Amino acid sequence: PPPTLLHPEKWCRGFNHFISQCLIKDFEKRPSVTHLLEHPFIKQVHGKDMSLQKQLAELIQEQQQLGSVAKTRHERIHTRRPYHVDGADKYSLDDDLVNLEVLDEDTIIHQLQKRYADLQIYTYVGDILIALNPFQNLSIYSPQFSKLYHGVKRSSNPPHIFASADAAYQSMVTFSKDQCIVISGESGAGKTESAHLIVQHLTFLGKANNRALREKILQVNPLVEAFGNACTAINDNSSRFGKYLEMMFTPTGAVMGAKISEYLLEKSRVIKQAVGEKNFHIFYYIYAGLYNQKKLSEYRLPDKKPPRYIDNETGKVMHDIITKDSYGRQFEAIQHCFRIIGFTDEEVYSVYRILTGILNTGNIEFAAISSQHQTDKSEVPNPEALDNAAALLSIGSEELQEALTSHCVVTRGETIIRTNTVDKAADVRDAMSKALYGRLFSWIVNRINTLLHNTENGMNIGILDIFGFENFARNSFEQLCINIANEQIQFYFNQHIFALEQMEYQSEGIDATAVEYEDNRPLLDMFLQKPMGLLSLLDEESRFPQATDLTLVDKFEGNLRCKYFWRPKGVELSFGIQHYAGKVLYDASAFLEKNRDTLPADIVVVLRTSENKLLQQLFSSPLTKTGIFCTTLLTLQHYSLMDLLSKMVVGQPHFVRCIKPNDDREALMFSHERVLLQLRYTGILETVKIRQKGYSHRILFDEFVKRYYYLAFKAHETPLGSRENCLAILEKSKLDNWILGKTKVFLKYYHIEQLNLFLREV
Ligand code: ATP
Ligand code: MG
Repeated sequence: PPPTLLHPEKWCRGFNHFISQCLIKDFEKRPSVTHLLEHPFIKQVHGKDMSLQKQLAELIQEQQQLGSVAKTRHERIHTRRPYHVDGADKYSLDDDLVNLEVLDEDTIIHQLQKRYADLQIYTYVGDILIALNPFQNLSIYSPQFSKLYHGVKRSSNPPHIFASADAAYQSMVTFSKDQCIVISGESGAGKTESAHLIVQHLTFLGKANNRALREKILQVNPLVEAFGNACTAINDNSSRFGKYLEMMFTPTGAVMGAKISEYLLEKSRVIKQAVGEKNFHIFYYIYAGLYNQKKLSEYRLPDKKPPRYIDNETGKVMHDIITKDSYGRQFEAIQHCFRIIGFTDEEVYSVYRILTGILNTGNIEFAAISSQHQTDKSEVPNPEALDNAAALLSIGSEELQEALTSHCVVTRGETIIRTNTVDKAADVRDAMSKALYGRLFSWIVNRINTLLHNTENGMNIGILDIFGFENFARNSFEQLCINIANEQIQFYFNQHIFALEQMEYQSEGIDATAVEYEDNRPLLDMFLQKPMGLLSLLDEESRFPQATDLTLVDKFEGNLRCKYFWRPKGVELSFGIQHYAGKVLYDASAFLEKNRDTLPADIVVVLRTSENKLLQQLFSSPLTKTGIFCTTLLTLQHYSLMDLLSKMVVGQPHFVRCIKPNDDREALMFSHERVLLQLRYTGILETVKIRQKGYSHRILFDEFVKRYYYLAFKAHETPLGSRENCLAILEKSKLDNWILGKTKVFLKYYHIEQLNLFLREV
């Protein structure tokens, strides 16, 4: 079939004005490429001018790509928006689910399915963007597309992630207000990809003269993701930490810096991975990179068999490294990132030594010393691994062995040395590796912030991309952390879309039909309430040295008496939670230990003696929480995420809801069942309703008059922020469907764009 063609203007750029007009007219009569190719003008060009022919071929190619996201202009002419700012001839009704006449699950899903088949992966629900994962590369993110979505009305083009980024940017520049873009969706739904695309478009929009800065900002995501992402059973590039990237702009909208905040890295992955899963990407990159550069021996790594921490499926990693060179190439890319962002060679070298130090630490083994009197003592049967680790971490080998196989206890002012059993020594080793990696990660993030931070006054757009909701065959402590975080994001979404909106209608005396939605507040209370919420109970139990994972589950069962928690019969360490996104069965093994996340003081003391300045710094910071159970992992996570959410509340939120069309990562495959489930638990149906009926923007009279008085008053006038003046402006602007409350103007999501457009015209 002939490729779909849109924007004939663009198509015809290469021709003179008269020819372009003829071609456009002709196309509008018969929107077909084959037909257009038959046009006498084009035939003429075909016959003569080689460079025009080439241009034509390129244009056709571009049109084919564009065609994958949009409908023909012809079709668009026959569609209508619920408002009428201008000709409104370029968009289609089904770009926005709010336009649907029939609002039910079937219609919505049918609509999404139809669009997905046309590779229209983006759809609006009012001001919210739904993004279906295409599971294939689409050519819709080139600079041409950035241009297409630059500062135009949203309705000028088909829905796109660039349009959402553009809306946030325009809002920031127009109202001098911080913005945040919240990307949600389950693991593998496309959040991180979306975050990249947003950064790409924002760097395009916020063009500063400083090209180097733009380059640096573009390297931030790849660098932190090499350290914070890993291959899981669901997603080959799964985020194992939460990331909030703030891009800073000058008051005129030029990019001037960036800052990242990281939330709860899944450190346990460093020491162990489930079957079919992998360690953090960076370990494979560095191993392959050093292998290619023949530098493995310099970093004391064997070249036949990769270190234990990255070789859970024996032999597979080595095979991948030898047969495919992607890891090695990624290592070069990471070196490039470090350089561009501004890390010094010395810093990068220190980072490599710590990474390879961790890999060597993982190879240290322990065996029991069997003597008659001492059964609880361990030794290292492979001292070369110990020497290697100590050498790379620039610490004494003997001191390291001491710290691993024994520990000091201070009782009544007296220090006693106790020996560690084999299991205990292995735990200490792994705790050390986790701490090293966790602190190294935080250091990299902080260093990026110092290198890219700008203290000048400006505004920012924050982009939140966290680990998505997970439900594996076996779910552990990490999944609980991830799922609680997602629960909080869902609550934040609900607050903005439903709860706050309805509360405000009431207080402003506006009669708006309440929309029922699935409120996850009770579930969040079950987790966060004090003193009887799940987190408090977990913290309390973590403080008892005698507690076990079983006493923990008993405690949960005894105290969490609500329909969201249950304990299956016959499986002692198991408990279930009915999350907003579905039921998850957790295995509580090692919950207490993981939550305690302790690092023995003996290890900290040794690491502080390191001659590697960076390593010294990692352990001298006040971050150290040696051996004290005062702040456990989940509590930390809880507060940090709450802190983040409160920060976001200050800004104007924009939502991107990513949806995974199938579990097989197949292009063009649309699983009705899976999508329906996601639409249900993310409350899309309710969102459609509330966006259709509701008023997403509420502006105080005073603010409204300040912003828009130009539309009804003279430039030199300073009208009061009164109800009457708001009315005058609204009437002059000829908008319909707005409401005036007691103190605020209530506007539909599309009014803002129209008002801004009028302002520009005035
Ligand atoms: P997690 O919660 O596990 O971090 P995620 O939601 O961040 O998951 P991504 O890593 O963004 O998921 O996406 C998973 C994969 O889906 C990507 O590696 C990529 O192959 C594909 N993908 C997602 N979005 C797009 C897109 N817009 N174009 C092409 N491929 C995409
Ligand atoms: Mg991700």
